[in-house]
Amino acid sequence: MIQDFIHESVLVGKQWRKIRLLGGEPTLHPEFFPILNDLLQYRNRHPDCVIEVVTNGYGTAVNAMLQQIPAGVVVENSAKESSLQTSFSPFNLAPVDDPAFRNADYRNGCEVMKACGMALTPLGYYPCAVAGGIDRIEGNRLGRAHLPRDEDDMTSMVERLCRLCGHFKEGNLIPEPIRPAGLQEQISPTWKSLYARWRNKRKLSKRRGVTKLTDYQLRFVTSQTSHPQGNDQPNINRESVKA
Ligand code: SF4
Repeated sequence: MIQDFIHESVLVGKQWRKIRLLGGEPTLHPEFFPILNDLLQYRNRHPDCVIEVVTNGYGTAVNAMLQQIPAGVVVENSAKESSLQTSFSPFNLAPVDDPAFRNADYRNGCEVMKACGMALTPLGYYPCAVAGGIDRIEGNRLGRAHLPRDEDDMTSMVERLCRLCGHFKEGNLIPEPIRPAGLQEQISPTWKSLYARWRNKRKLSKRRGVTKLTDYQLRFVTSQTSHPQGNDQPNINRESVKA
């Protein structure tokens, strides 16, 4: 999949400004170093491309992996010390469960799409990494199988997936200093039923001995400079996806 991404990028002349590896925790992915090496090879062609690993820096296994990351790879380490992250905004509060959003136009998406860029997950390309995570749980497999063309703004995906995303409710624009502290998990009814259905499916798959590709999910997001896009396309890099 990563090789396909690189191959298609080279084929259509994309020169990505930044490629970021996200998780979950990307360093725990069993193919973490092979993927990183592939991306470094892409960077050999385009030396201005920044390769960045976004890690929580949590625990000895993660830190052992971080030590082995080659020089020249940027590591964004949030250095978490607990599973409670009070500055995170609740992602599992679906706007569709909130009457105030009855008439919302979900095609607008939110700032994350612009700030963090397009995402590639094991299920394909998405307008943002969070959208990929939502589709993974909802199970509709909406991701594009190939690198989207410039004119593909993925609006249908945005419309479908943002209706479930807590970030849509705040536009991800509430600055951290004034954002209410998240002291407990918040999940709206639609998410409760989606998770229950997803867990059941996983249980069934395990009983049947099916290994899910998405059990290890490594997403990466990209931004580009060589083909400027309109507002619907990602073009800025700043970490704000914390799903
Ligand atoms: S609302 Fe959620 S899924 Fe939609 S663009 Fe923002 S972060 Fe992505």
